[in-house]
Amino acid sequence: LIELHDVNKYYGDLHVLKDINLTVGRGEVVVVIGPSGSGKSTLCRTVNRLETIQSGTIRLDGQPLPEEGKALAGLRAEVGMVFQAFNLFAHKTVLQNVSLAQMKVRSRKRPDADRRSRELLERVGLADHADKLPAQLSGGQQQRVAIARALAMDPKALLFDEPTSALDPEMITEVLEVMQQLARDGMTMVVVTHEMGFARSAANRVVFMDGGRVVEDRTPEDFFSDPESERAKDFLSKIL
Ligand code: ATP
Ligand code: MG
Repeated sequence: LIELHDVNKYYGDLHVLKDINLTVGRGEVVVVIGPSGSGKSTLCRTVNRLETIQSGTIRLDGQPLPEEGKALAGLRAEVGMVFQAFNLFAHKTVLQNVSLAQMKVRSRKRPDADRRSRELLERVGLADHADKLPAQLSGGQQQRVAIARALAMDPKALLFDEPTSALDPEMITEVLEVMQQLARDGMTMVVVTHEMGFARSAANRVVFMDGGRVVEDRTPEDFFSDPESERAKDFLSKIL
């Protein structure tokens, strides 16, 4: 579904993605890990075309990523992104937050958008919170609203960039459970996370990045039991 071929990205002179080759099949869950500055966020952002690349190709469903305009907005809907910061509209209710983009990008009428929003809020365990403002929710609840909002676009894939790293421990679990359920339901997901429990239980593959390169791309069983590279061994010894 998502294919990166020899992708290179620079910020000025800084070479941040180096010959990245990566394929994410439909329904696959790929967890991306690696040290700070290794290019994990940049990788997510290039797939969503929040960043341009200098060489290589990225395809979604066999098609090169669109460059601009309506097609680009369409891409952002098809490849949803969930960030560490939830980026909800503070002065809109939870329901409005989930409905807005559906009306704008998917041209749904408000009643249809709201109906879909309520279904999704139910799915992330927030049916009773639809009329609250984001500030009245915990961080974990806000992140689940952000997930519902991304799902409301009927995306082909979801990218998560450290979705739980701003959360207190007791809230991390509730967000990971929603993500686990999405994985079981067959959503294609790329997840940057330090939650190795999630990687072990939900990932089809673990991609380890270092210095802008994909150093390992293996099943969680293989990766955790026997990392091949010294850099991955070193990284795991620090976080496990
Ligand atoms: P972290 O674990 O800290 O989130 P990361 O693996 O997500 O790190 P990136 O954010 O992708 O790493 O950054 C990769 C490299 O690119 C880093 O050296 C970073 O300083 C640099 N970088 C990121 N964004 C920009 C930018 N907008 N302009 C210039 N350099 C950038
Ligand atoms: Mg990052």
